[in-house]
Amino acid sequence: MTMPKTLNNLTAHQIHDVLRAGSVTATEIAEAYFKRIAEVDPKVLAYVDVWREFGLAQAAKVDETVRRGDDPGPLAGVPIGLKDVLCTRQGYTTCCSKILKGYRSPFDATVVQRLESAGGVFLGKLNMDEFAMGSSTENSSVQVTRNPWNLKCVPGGSSGGSAAAVAADECVISLGSDTGGSIRQPAALCGCVGMKPTYGRVSRYGLVAFASSLDQIGPFSKDVEDLAIALNVICGKDPHDSTSADLPVPDFTKSLRQDVADITIGLPKEYYTDALNAEMREKIEAAIAVLQKLGAKVVEVSLPHTDYAIACYYIICTAEASANLARFDGVRYGYRSPSSGDVHDMYSNTKTEGFGPEVKRRIMLGTYVLSSGYYDAYYLKAQKVRSLIRRDFLDAFDKCDVILAPTSPTAAFEIGEKTDDPLEMYLSDIYTISVNLATIPGMSMPCGLTKRGLPAGLQIMAKPFNEETMLRVAYSYEKNRGFEMGAPPIGARAR
Ligand code: GLN
Repeated sequence: MTMPKTLNNLTAHQIHDVLRAGSVTATEIAEAYFKRIAEVDPKVLAYVDVWREFGLAQAAKVDETVRRGDDPGPLAGVPIGLKDVLCTRQGYTTCCSKILKGYRSPFDATVVQRLESAGGVFLGKLNMDEFAMGSSTENSSVQVTRNPWNLKCVPGGSSGGSAAAVAADECVISLGSDTGGSIRQPAALCGCVGMKPTYGRVSRYGLVAFASSLDQIGPFSKDVEDLAIALNVICGKDPHDSTSADLPVPDFTKSLRQDVADITIGLPKEYYTDALNAEMREKIEAAIAVLQKLGAKVVEVSLPHTDYAIACYYIICTAEASANLARFDGVRYGYRSPSSGDVHDMYSNTKTEGFGPEVKRRIMLGTYVLSSGYYDAYYLKAQKVRSLIRRDFLDAFDKCDVILAPTSPTAAFEIGEKTDDPLEMYLSDIYTISVNLATIPGMSMPCGLTKRGLPAGLQIMAKPFNEETMLRVAYSYEKNRGFEMGAPPIGARAR
């Protein structure tokens, strides 16, 4: 095995090999990542909390296990970053909201526990749009994360910190959450791989809820193999989450075969219209051509209710958010307004001072669509449209195994470009939110760079609980695409 030039560009599967060969220790790897964070994070601003002491202690434990000759686990020594929406006993859990500033969770999310048992080394918590509401990470109350490919641009959102940290080599794997695209869109904008598994595949226990019928946790990685390794660890039934699926979890690394000769790719005619940016279309078509050369067939499919997806999503997610966020009242968690007369003032001032503008907008919209007189006209209707959207996908999957589409209508946009126009920001979710409404799995992977040097993302969708087929297509494409993504230009490092 050839030794990598630096410890910072290793993948999880390479770490697995070098650790067991005894050529490096988990402690050396962790040190290299904390050094990298110290060097580049002042520019990227992906982390909101760095856990140096804690991470080094976890790494030392892994080294001890290796020395004893025991199995240190599938993610042994792999540096991992966690979106700040996941409950962790270590550090704070704030969802990057003022209302949860200083909040410490008394328990670890199931996914956090699973990663730790698999030998993962946690580097800290990652920035996000407040309560995962947004597409650019500009709604964080802490800081605006920069896109490592161009520091003037957004990393996408809401899991912008998770995507930027992987892209900037500030961790090897990270976790994010995806309610309407929050893993896939930032993965696309930052040039990494990211997956929203099928609803129910991963336990949501310890994920601070935004919209409970849409939220899913998923991993970010540098390549498809690492994504499969992370999925193996986090997927599966959890008695703490009644919506987690009681289905066997396959070994996802076994689906990494390069053969796609029996695969039929569906291209929804509603996605490939004149509205699609020409450069994005060119990149996606080139990716499709790679898969066709490998024997995959292509058919046109139709998702006739696509036009209603954004409206439907913004009714359902705001309704659920207004219910979920009612618990942040200054009594049970985090921030309480100091300027409180009676209890009524205390609730009202706490929420006024604690929530940012986008979160307030969503709570108001959600309260409105649930209020009596409007419930039938908005919420109930949106639920019916949701069923139609799900049916569209299931019908389309009668004709194909996977659907390919862009992840985002454009590459990364500039910081501040869309902040004055919430509707414009909502429209950037056009290709991702239907997947959540339909509860199917979706992933994004890089498919080249635009003329401005920004990553383009290819989205792959599959039938419920068919992540394996998605991974197979993704792996074939990655191995045969004929180019390297290279590294973002944010500081010297050998690749
Ligand atoms: N951008 C979408 C929104 O603002 C999706 C967010 C998410 O997936 N958490 O709701």
